[in-house]
Amino acid sequence: MPVDRLLPTREAEDLLDLTRTVADRELAPKAARYEREEAYPEGLFKLLGEIGLLGLPYPEEHGGGGQPYEVYLQVLEELAARWAAVAVATSVHTLACFPLATYATDAQRERWLPAMLEGAQVGGYSLSEPHAGSDAAAIVCKAAPVAEGYRITGTKAWITHGGKADFYALFARTGEGSRGISCFLAPGEAEGLAFGRPEEKMGLNAVPTTTAHWDGALVAGDRLIGAEGQGLGIALGALDSGRLGIAACATGLAQAALDAAVDYANERTAFGRRIVDHQGLGFLLADMAAAVDSSRATYLDAARRRDLGRPYSRQASVAKLIATDAAMKVTTDAVQVFGGAGYTREFPVERYMREAKVMQIFEGTNQIQRMVIARQFARRES
Ligand SMILES: Cc1cc2nc3c(=O)[nH]c(=O)nc-3n(C[C@H](O)[C@H](O)[C@H](O)COP(=O)(O)OP(=O)(O)OC[C@H]3O[C@@H](n4cnc5c(N)ncnc54)[C@H](O)[C@@H]3O)c2cc1C
Repeated sequence: MPVDRLLPTREAEDLLDLTRTVADRELAPKAARYEREEAYPEGLFKLLGEIGLLGLPYPEEHGGGGQPYEVYLQVLEELAARWAAVAVATSVHTLACFPLATYATDAQRERWLPAMLEGAQVGGYSLSEPHAGSDAAAIVCKAAPVAEGYRITGTKAWITHGGKADFYALFARTGEGSRGISCFLAPGEAEGLAFGRPEEKMGLNAVPTTTAHWDGALVAGDRLIGAEGQGLGIALGALDSGRLGIAACATGLAQAALDAAVDYANERTAFGRRIVDHQGLGFLLADMAAAVDSSRATYLDAARRRDLGRPYSRQASVAKLIATDAAMKVTTDAVQVFGGAGYTREFPVERYMREAKVMQIFEGTNQIQRMVIARQFARRES
């Protein structure tokens, strides 16, 4: 049964209907097989771009969908309920567009943004390095100024859509300390740029996660986004929005696990009754439903603050923490509802459980979210 959503406009209702139709037809039937075979869904992101899902929260004048964040996130949730890897890559693409949309000059925006927001070009976000994940300010990849622009040297890690994306929001060092990081709109291909083999992951296997090795590759000077040294602020600002995307993906994944568990509990019998009629199991389902609803309410609260131009960083961290911890618990409980069958690949719940785990880790681990929340308390911000 579709989630009963409170959407702000008729246009948003139509958008959600379109998303469900396309996701039911193009995502749901393929997810299990592509994930198992670790096969990349060629052409799928182009299709999502064509129907307008790759630039939803950005202005229409640059090719975006002009939708409030609360609507964009609910679209993402519907995608995640069918195929988490595709939803996460969509969220990362939206994150990768943020620096250009928010910090670039008009000339840069006019030149590059429409292709990105219309989905002709799919993006990745390249901040992490092998030794620097949570501690982003510790990155060492260098951008050395030369006459034509910058020569990039170093190794980046954990790039969602690595080797497949057309562009990367790349963060590299032009100086020392946290004010020595700069942001670039790097091309997907360049002489001196090579990607590692996809990581062998626990889940989200249809979209590769790779390292990138920059060996003096040239990035043209007009691809610097914002000023030199502004990169860390841009990266962290982008992640405030990005982690809301992850909260929505986690909520969709948890919703899918709940739906599967409810269906199974209505069919399976034990001790002469459907297992849903055993109160012990009914209460498990009730707790799962409460966790999914709370996750959705929490990310929507943060998104509505963002849409109103109010501060939302703390609420975004709360949403990421609540929704991803809930997804881990709900997907684990869904396996429990299925009993032994839940532990097999015949049903999707074991995959959901594997997919939920990484959501507690990327775009700031849940320990880091707690740090963000606690720090803002110390500064007495709301
Ligand atoms: C599938 C996948 C996709 C990813 N996609 C991207 C991407 O597209 N782009 C990108 O840039 N990165 C990406 N990442 C990287 C991801 O953001 C990092 O893995 C994450 O930020 C954690 O960094 P780390 O792995 O280096 O762990 P570490 O920073 O080494 O942390 C290890 C452990 O220590 C804890 N810890 C660290 N510091 C503290 C502290 N101060 N207090 C308490 N606990 C602490 C962490 O919470 C964690 O539990 C991806 C990762 C994965 C697994």
